[in-house]
Amino acid sequence: MKKEFLDSVIIQEEKDLRGFFDQIFNLGIIAELVEYKKEKTKDSSLYFHLKSHCLPLCKGFFKELDELCDKTRRNLGLDVNDITFYLANDPEFNCQCLKRVKSSEPSVVIINSGLLEKITLDELAFVLGHEIGHILFDHFIITEIFKTVYPNREKLPPLLNKLYSLWCNLSELSADRIGLLASKNFETSIRALIKLASGGHLKFHDLPLDNVLSLIETLYEELKNLRVSDISDHPPVPIRIKALKFFYDSHLWKYLESNESAYFDEQLEKNLREITSVLRKRPFTEEEYYELLFLASAGIFLMTVDKEIDEREHIYIANLLSKYIYWPIGFIEGINKENLNNSLEISSSYIRENCPWKIKELLTMLFNILIRDQKLKEAEVFAFKIIANKYLKISEYEINEIMLESITERYIPFY
Ligand SMILES: [Zn+2]
Repeated sequence: MKKEFLDSVIIQEEKDLRGFFDQIFNLGIIAELVEYKKEKTKDSSLYFHLKSHCLPLCKGFFKELDELCDKTRRNLGLDVNDITFYLANDPEFNCQCLKRVKSSEPSVVIINSGLLEKITLDELAFVLGHEIGHILFDHFIITEIFKTVYPNREKLPPLLNKLYSLWCNLSELSADRIGLLASKNFETSIRALIKLASGGHLKFHDLPLDNVLSLIETLYEELKNLRVSDISDHPPVPIRIKALKFFYDSHLWKYLESNESAYFDEQLEKNLREITSVLRKRPFTEEEYYELLFLASAGIFLMTVDKEIDEREHIYIANLLSKYIYWPIGFIEGINKENLNNSLEISSSYIRENCPWKIKELLTMLFNILIRDQKLKEAEVFAFKIIANKYLKISEYEINEIMLESITERYIPFY
């Protein structure tokens, strides 16, 4: 499959996030190290397992299934040297793909018996295409790089953790597009997604597609109003189905039928960004918004008291703010010398009047910014006191107490 073709199919925001990760990690260098190790260790255990406990698809054994897999592969411009299919005796209603370990071997898609029992061949084409999509877009390398740099997910800084989750969700939606390109049938693709969501037991065949889509619409609206900020790595089903429908109805879908050169469908990206907004944390209430504005402006005020803010400090505040907003970097960039005092003034007065019980917690978070470099600097302590006293109007005694408490609990002097 041509690079230009894949470049048109992949969701733009997924690509942008990959670019951001590249800027932070230098993906190319780590990917090379990871791939080199795999190639040199010549680990054949995967192929040993496949050949011992699974059966490769071939015409002699599973003619109909083999033909379907072959057609799916051809629809995506691939052949047996790129992907091979195996059957596994596994009751789990699932299918998985494994990227080639050695450059001389094809990548592998394993189809579980539990999946085959409940899914039609047409529906299977979508599932296989989705798995192959992960291989074509090389999603594995991003996951591997995150695991290499942060083997313990809990140690992932909050900003990266949120963006990685968003990327995982978008990568599934990009893979769904390849699923639809493989099956070429919108209705069976939707049925496959519904079965995947319901474990395959749903007697779905009697339900017309329109009814399914209107049910999904209702679910999506309800989902939107729930305002949950911690998303899992897998996209919610209503978003998957709506995203696939947008793709199927798009100019891009029609264009791809007869073209392989690059094409950017602005309207499709806009629609997609709107429905995936559920996946991006933003302030849900006025109170949350003003807390965010206060921490961002007070943080910048502290950091710029004696010098210009640098990139490391931007990222430090961004991590602190990612609790409120998925892309805090953009929010911080919106605060400048001209509007800094006003931002501090309006956010402080909102907090004073509407949620004064939050003041201690916010000042404690702010104090963490002050001791980020394990140093207590006079200019920053002075600025901290101005914020607490002039803007939040708390007494000198209370400021003293907050500072002493924070020093005892969190200050680790650098020496
Ligand atoms: Zn997937």
